[in-house]
Amino acid sequence: MPTWDNPLITIIGEKCRMCYACVRECPAKAIQVVDGQARVIQPRCIGCGNCLRVCSQNAKQVRDDTAKAFSLLASGEKVVAMVAPSFPAEFVDISPDRLISMIRALGFDSVHEMSLGADLVAGEYRKLLEKDPQGRYITTPCPAAVAYVRKYHPRLMPHLAPIVSPMVAMARVLRYEMGADTKVVFMGPCVAKKRASIDTTHGEVDAVLTFAELRDMFARRGVRPDDFAYGDRFDPPHGGIGAVFPIAGGLLQTAGLDEDLLTGELVIAEGRGEFIEAITEFDMTAGGDTRLLDVLSCSGCFAGPGMTSDLTMLQRRSRVSAYARNRLGSMTDEERALVDGAPETYRDLDLSREYQADVQTLAEIPTLQDIDEILRRMGKYKAQDLLNCGACGYDTCLDHAYAVFAGLADSDMCLPHAIEQLRSAYRQLEESHKSLEEAKEALERTGRLASMGQLAAGIAHEVNNPLGTLLLHANLLLEECEDDSEVKADLETIVDQANRCKRIISGLLNFARQSRVVRQPTDLSELVEKVIRTAPTAENVEITVDDRLNDSIAEIDGDQIVQVLTNLLTNAQHAMPDGGTITITLTDTAGTVTIKVADSGSGIAKEHMAQLFDPFFTTKQVGMGTGLGLAVTHGIIKMHRGQISVQSNSDPAAGPTGTTFRIDLPRKETGAPTSHGMIGALA
Ligand code: ADP
Ligand code: MG
Repeated sequence: MPTWDNPLITIIGEKCRMCYACVRECPAKAIQVVDGQARVIQPRCIGCGNCLRVCSQNAKQVRDDTAKAFSLLASGEKVVAMVAPSFPAEFVDISPDRLISMIRALGFDSVHEMSLGADLVAGEYRKLLEKDPQGRYITTPCPAAVAYVRKYHPRLMPHLAPIVSPMVAMARVLRYEMGADTKVVFMGPCVAKKRASIDTTHGEVDAVLTFAELRDMFARRGVRPDDFAYGDRFDPPHGGIGAVFPIAGGLLQTAGLDEDLLTGELVIAEGRGEFIEAITEFDMTAGGDTRLLDVLSCSGCFAGPGMTSDLTMLQRRSRVSAYARNRLGSMTDEERALVDGAPETYRDLDLSREYQADVQTLAEIPTLQDIDEILRRMGKYKAQDLLNCGACGYDTCLDHAYAVFAGLADSDMCLPHAIEQLRSAYRQLEESHKSLEEAKEALERTGRLASMGQLAAGIAHEVNNPLGTLLLHANLLLEECEDDSEVKADLETIVDQANRCKRIISGLLNFARQSRVVRQPTDLSELVEKVIRTAPTAENVEITVDDRLNDSIAEIDGDQIVQVLTNLLTNAQHAMPDGGTITITLTDTAGTVTIKVADSGSGIAKEHMAQLFDPFFTTKQVGMGTGLGLAVTHGIIKMHRGQISVQSNSDPAAGPTGTTFRIDLPRKETGAPTSHGMIGALA
């Protein structure tokens, strides 16, 4: 059974940048991207290694079998090496004879070429086709292609040639020659063979190393080509034309299968795109005339993902065939006789095998609605929306939707959709940026309005009184006027226009409305104590509280009354530069609370009394007073529907100087809710 806990190819999450190149290249669609994480679905993976080739981030990891090989070598058992015939395309820097010596130096008892296995397998193919002239077969040396059929085209199982791969054939030869206990380590260009060794051939090859891993073993053991003399040779038994096996159509060339045997009913399909297409076509055209489908998942084994070579495909191919020609040309007559006699020598060796299906085709077929729903999630509502751009790794939008349905892909892998979403997110951001800007402007405007409001309130307050007087007198005159008097119409105009002025002023005052009274049950005694504690007090000023409250709780806006007290205390202290006393007296009735603030200061001149609460009225030097303290105080008291009054003596001759402000506040809210703004209350 396959062991998925020892996976063949895995993805290193931290390195993966989600480019979907591997999703695109994976012929088995075995790479799942869900929640932004890519991973290999092991049962679906055919081990072809295409994902390794296309991953620019080196985020794919192949199972490392060097530890297994080292432990076999250390076990004391007979361990032999078997080298794939594509080695000349890999070891450009190491001559074949030195390579053999280096492998020996790792501790292998003998070093063999795999080509004899290819020779024998080719002979079996020949026999198979001769014996069964009607048979239609798919070649099976490529474990990735075999896995692809077993998983995705199980119908074709009977068409898989029942012949072992050259690797397994050679392993059987070696055991036949050297004893059943012999351990066999294969080294080649193939990643898929690593899995073949564990899941389909039942341990006939004890370890499968890629050429990359072999180089790694050399490096770790300090085995360098320069340490060895030239002239070493592979150990027998030798192979023949099987050395050309890794190149295109190599099997057929090895088998000497010519036109008269197959009469054009041969299809060679190599490389990712071709082999998938050929197998699919073979499946669909059950009665087609292809007799032998020679498939390799790579473009020749020398292109395998286990190679580290920088050579072009053409260079690799010519190195492999040059080596094969050279080998065949330099054989002694004796060796040639042995090679030619090999089929006879190994006549009794069983080179057959069976296959088991490993069906991975999707179990559940989505309905049209399912697909439609998934496409909608990707912003695709009509035929023109199916761009089939392939950016997600799937050839078509429909393929992608099927993969989403099967749980293999995320709908957010759709790049055009992601771009569209980004664009709309950008637009939304722009809009919210705009409304933020607007809010900021509104705030600035409010600030400006507030100061304009104060100015307006000041002017309004000033204009209101004379206007009132004007109206009063005009109305008096109007009353005295005879009905037919000439001036009556003029007086009516005056009253009319004066009323209009009042309306304009009240509009101005409405505009200036800002704060609201927030009434809450408040302990007035506590509040006064708090103000005294926190307000700055000069050393020579003494503040006393005469608290005669029966019930200290009143529904008032605590913050605003604090402001009132603070203003009054500040003014009182200003009036006592040489010190003095301030007395706060608290009294109440059932419905009102009264606060008196009395100081022993200089008092207020009679002529100032009328203007005291006007905005901007101040007797202090520029920079010392704003003239707003009492105006604001007045506004707050009015908003509480309360009263504020003042008594003062500024004439020492008339008695002790000083000022007393008296504030009366209703204990509870009375009448209509006080929704008027502070400045409005000034009116
Ligand atoms: P300012 O910031 O100028 O003090 P206010 O509105 O608080 O403005 O007061 C206006 C004017 O009223 C003061 O400049 C001052 O002449 C007078 N005044 C207010 N309170 C007192 C007080 N307790 N004793 C004497 N004069 C006062
Ligand atoms: Mg003041």
